[in-house]
Amino acid sequence: MRILVVEDEVDLAHTLHTRLTAEGYSVDLAHDGRQGLWMARTGAYALVVLDLMLPGLNGYKDCAQWRREGNSTPILALTAKDGDFDQAEALDTGADDYLAKPFSYMVLVARLRALVRRVTAVAPPVLAVGGLSLDIAGRICRRPGVRVELTPREFAALELLARRAGQAVSKTDLLYHAWPDEAWNPNLVEARVSALRKKVDAAFHRQSLQTVRGTGYRLVDDRERD
Ligand code: CA
Repeated sequence: MRILVVEDEVDLAHTLHTRLTAEGYSVDLAHDGRQGLWMARTGAYALVVLDLMLPGLNGYKDCAQWRREGNSTPILALTAKDGDFDQAEALDTGADDYLAKPFSYMVLVARLRALVRRVTAVAPPVLAVGGLSLDIAGRICRRPGVRVELTPREFAALELLARRAGQAVSKTDLLYHAWPDEAWNPNLVEARVSALRKKVDAAFHRQSLQTVRGTGYRLVDDRERD
C-alpha cells in the first residue's frame, strides 16, 4: 500500500518515512504543499498524511483542492497541538481524520489502518447512472449485458462524473482527476471526452454524458426521454 506524506519538517518527514516503511507501506515524501498537490493528483496513493502548516500551499488548500477535483483518497491531517480550530477546519475541508503534534507513531499507524478499513467498508461496489454501471473495485464499465472497454484514465473520468451524477463537473477538475499530465492544455479535455462519449454513449445511441456550456460536463440518467 502506497502512502504520500506531505511534511515540510525534514526530520519528521524522514522519521515518518522510516516508521511507515517498517510497517510495510511504500512511502513517498513531499516537502511542500504544491509538490504534495501534484503528487496526490497522480492517484497513486491509498492514503495521504498531510501536515497543515506547509510552505507553498498550506495543507487546508491542498485538501480542499483535492476534494474539488474528485480525489477521494483518505487524508489524515497533522495539526498543531491544542488547535481545536485547526482540527475542525481540517475536517471541514475534507480531511478524514487528524492527529495533533506531537503524536505517537503507534497511534498514527493505528489511525491509518482504521482509515483504510473505514474507506473500504463504505466504498460503493458499483456506481450506476441510468444504464451505465461502474464496478469501482474491478474498474469495469457496463451497459446492460455489455462490457464497455475503457482506458484507466477514461474510467477515472467517468467515475468522477458518476460520483457527481447530475451535477456539472468543470473541465479543469476532470483533467486534474483523470489526465493530470495534460492539465496544462484545457483544450485536450474536449477530445478526451469526445472519445469517451463514443464508447459509452454513441455506440449505444445514448446521451448520458452531456456538455454543460461554459462549465464542463455532467453525467445524467438519460432514460427519462425514452
Ligand atoms: Ca509544518
